[in-house]
Amino acid sequence: MKVRKVTAAATVALALSVTATACGGSNKDDNGSGGGKKITIGIKFDQPGLGLKTPDGYTGFDVDVATYVAKELGYSADDIQWKETPSADRETALERGDVKFIAASYSINDERQKKVDFAGPYLLAHQDLLVRSDDKITKATDLNGKKLCSVTGSTSAQNVKKTIAPKAQLKEYGTYSECIDGLSGGAVDALTTDDSILAGYAAQDQYKGKFKLAGLKLTNENYGIGIKKGDTKLKDKINKALEKMVKDKAWDKAVKDNFGPAHYKNEPAPKIGDIVK
Ligand code: GLU
Repeated sequence: MKVRKVTAAATVALALSVTATACGGSNKDDNGSGGGKKITIGIKFDQPGLGLKTPDGYTGFDVDVATYVAKELGYSADDIQWKETPSADRETALERGDVKFIAASYSINDERQKKVDFAGPYLLAHQDLLVRSDDKITKATDLNGKKLCSVTGSTSAQNVKKTIAPKAQLKEYGTYSECIDGLSGGAVDALTTDDSILAGYAAQDQYKGKFKLAGLKLTNENYGIGIKKGDTKLKDKINKALEKMVKDKAWDKAVKDNFGPAHYKNEPAPKIGDIVK
């Protein structure tokens, strides 16, 4: 089995190098300097406002940040291949080299930093609760004994177990959209994750008026761009790109375009390297 995998990978590598040559031009590499070759970037596909796959393409704040960064690395929007990286798969995707970087509501924390590195942060969000509009849950202790949904591999699920609501019945699903379905259908009583994500879901047409955000700011979630551990060159380049994005106001525009419709009140742009504990 192992041998087969190696063979398959080698075939892909060969196919890729052939494609690169076929596309013409020299000096086409994939080391972050760009120049015509494709770049694969990990995002979420199902989080409105952040990373969403639609019939017309990909939208969201993470998509805009990633597109800006890619451009600074030398890749046009057409060079980008988007790959879905659900919460539990992000470290592995980077370790395996499936993606060059990840912009997917990816909080910087110590545990993850043992396996991957982060550029940024580029957004500060906070863990919050989403409940049905007619529900009386207003604080974390109201969750005792209630069914609370979050996603495997997320900081949100870990925080529930450790501090926020250890006595809640935690249901861990693969994606937040599955949690939303559960909340809508009654299988769960509340959904917890970042307010930036929850606001996006709550504002979707099919859910308008159905849910409310508790507004609790339970944690600080510093969104970083995940990269392979040790790639300091790429990290420096991405940090420069993020700084430029804030300076030239493209960051503000991305916030307005993507969070405006959900009335999400974001925090100001973080300073690179400043992690709010
Ligand atoms: N920002 C949190 C995390 O990185 C929750 C959102 C997510 O799962 O992507 O785990």
